[in-house]
Amino acid sequence: MHELSIVSSIVDSVTETLAAYPGAKVKEVRLRVGSLAAVIEDSLQFCYGIATEGTPLEGSTLVVKMLLVVMHCDLCGQDVEIEGLQSFRCPRCGEPVSDLRQGRELEIESIEIDEVEETV
Ligand SMILES: [Zn+2]
Repeated sequence: MHELSIVSSIVDSVTETLAAYPGAKVKEVRLRVGSLAAVIEDSLQFCYGIATEGTPLEGSTLVVKMLLVVMHCDLCGQDVEIEGLQSFRCPRCGEPVSDLRQGRELEIESIEIDEVEETV
């Protein structure tokens, strides 16, 4: 499954980040996912539950922020949001657009960490 490998790499990179905070637990991971990244949020959530088992991310929440496709239309001289993925045409003037500005993202936006109080 495509999503499982994505989630595994997210878990890896969050775990790496956590190395600087011994004993910390992750509360929430926020992702930015473009519509063209070809991932299904439900699958991400499902895989997240599996991939985080036994890691410092176990029990944390995955928040997925889906991003619309944004292209730049030369005719209109501005960035326009594309609703469908079937045809990339400017919703303002109808011209085909190909200058992608947003839509392929697949990145961690932020990580919320629960810092554990040190008890000696
Ligand atoms: Zn246009």
